[in-house]
Amino acid sequence: MRALDRVFGQISADEVVELTRALVRIPSVYRPDDPAANEAEVAAFVATWFTREGLPIEVQEVAPGRPNVLSWLGEKSAGRRCLLLEGHTDVVTEGDPQEWTWPPFGAELRDGRIYGRGAADMKSGLAAAMVTLAAFKRAGVTPNGKLVVGALVDEEDGMIGVRHLVKTAAGRELDAAIICEPEENELCLEQRGVVWARIRARGRMAHGAMPEAGVNPITALGAVLRETPALEKRLRKLCQKTRYLKPPTVTPTIVQAPPRGVGAPQSNVIPALAEMTLDVRLTPGIDADGLRSEIEALCRRAEAAVPGVKLEWEPVNAFRLATSVDKAEPLVQAMIHGVRKATGRAPRYGGVPGSTDGTILRMELGIPIVTCGPGNRLIPHQVDEYVDVQQVIDAARVYAASALKYLEH
Ligand SMILES: [Zn+2]
Repeated sequence: MRALDRVFGQISADEVVELTRALVRIPSVYRPDDPAANEAEVAAFVATWFTREGLPIEVQEVAPGRPNVLSWLGEKSAGRRCLLLEGHTDVVTEGDPQEWTWPPFGAELRDGRIYGRGAADMKSGLAAAMVTLAAFKRAGVTPNGKLVVGALVDEEDGMIGVRHLVKTAAGRELDAAIICEPEENELCLEQRGVVWARIRARGRMAHGAMPEAGVNPITALGAVLRETPALEKRLRKLCQKTRYLKPPTVTPTIVQAPPRGVGAPQSNVIPALAEMTLDVRLTPGIDADGLRSEIEALCRRAEAAVPGVKLEWEPVNAFRLATSVDKAEPLVQAMIHGVRKATGRAPRYGGVPGSTDGTILRMELGIPIVTCGPGNRLIPHQVDEYVDVQQVIDAARVYAASALKYLEH
């Protein structure tokens, strides 16, 4: 039998489904103020699972209770490629469990869907990647090159997992990566970038009954809010229009006065400080300096509108710019082939609305990335998150066929 058929023969629908459910049942919301709320338990589960399959593991302790887990098959040697199937183990908060039809960590299986926080984003994608690697091993097919599965921490926040990975030997030897995020198994060659700009307004504290005695920083934030549509419009001019990405957006997401940790809000007090965050999403075409000067200009305009207030800003996280990968890349070609082999259909293409760990791999290592995984891209972070079982099975087959093709060189 051909190698691919042997690998396909080891990918069982039941196993992919049950592994996804097992991962969903382990809550892995990271909560900084709760030492027990992190990725430790799910990472340990993943490590044990690979070990039981007879596969090697590397555990990278990124932060206390927050380990990356890697497993692999084959070797990276001269002239051979190394491919990463990338997933993250953290999930976003479930919110109010009462709003869920089924318990958020119950992994209810119903009408061909698995329900739960992380079902789509992205324990199913991780499960598909894990089963793919195990299927190679069980089928006795050693790839000509190295196939790695990475279960990384903290994708939903600062991406410390992938930032750690790119500095290690395991990260440096990567030649390409498939990001197993929920994109309905479309081949996504482009991802929007994201920058969170935290803007702080400094005024002068005063009694609410005597506003003339102070300078109100909240009013300055109002001026920023009035300026944001203009910034959005300007970014849409500066950035490229692309087929698969929505145009740039500028969205206020946090407004606080006074900012957290700087006193308590009071109804009759004008605070000295007010703070807000703009969530800026980008398409390719603008660099970090270009964006910096646009935000700077917005702050100066808002400042001019409210005399006496000083505005300053900083990025909450390192810049994550938009990424794109050429269709001629060997990874993309291998995946086009892989989708056909796995599903019998031609691939569909798409774009990732947000940034992923792949953004960091692309920016830091310069390697090509394609985002492709099971789950509706609009479902993550909502209540009643789910994944279609068929998509998870398809994903595992797509990863297997793509990996075999990509690594054959
Ligand atoms: Zn995700």
